[in-house]
Amino acid sequence: MGLDSELQKLEGPAGRLKEADFELAYLSVLTRCGIKPLSRWEKPLDRGEPALLSDLGLLTRQVRRTVKTGREVVETIFSVSSGYLDAYERRFAGTPVSKSAATVRFEGFLFGFPPCCVDSYIRHPYAKNDLDRDQQRILFHWACKGCKITPYLWPAYKAVHDWLSDSR
Ligand SMILES: [Zn+2]
Repeated sequence: MGLDSELQKLEGPAGRLKEADFELAYLSVLTRCGIKPLSRWEKPLDRGEPALLSDLGLLTRQVRRTVKTGREVVETIFSVSSGYLDAYERRFAGTPVSKSAATVRFEGFLFGFPPCCVDSYIRHPYAKNDLDRDQQRILFHWACKGCKITPYLWPAYKAVHDWLSDSR
């Protein structure tokens, strides 16, 4: 089954999520279609949004962590696979939010980022790449220069982004 027919089936819940927040809807549909194994939402969610995520066919969990000041933050993670949610929880639940290279690598794996782009980002964040602004804008990873993976992922991001932008 192609991406287009898969998207058609998601129209109702995706449209309702889009009304709540376009970015959340975009991440959710990418994740539901398997383009991203797992996604994380760091802003607070209303009670209605987790239900919309599950209408879309996603499993969701809330993970409690802390930031530098000691304040607790609640992240919402979602995936079609409980295995990825388990891995995230095992690695990050109860831990302080961090930007270490090890964290960025683990997150990149779960979020479906090409490993070459993750490594490049760790060495030189936002180094010049081959994408124009409109191409880079719809991705969640920063593509590495000469990337051999992103050009094959990008069309799926573009298809989901266009579909969501056009849908009611
Ligand atoms: Zn790359």
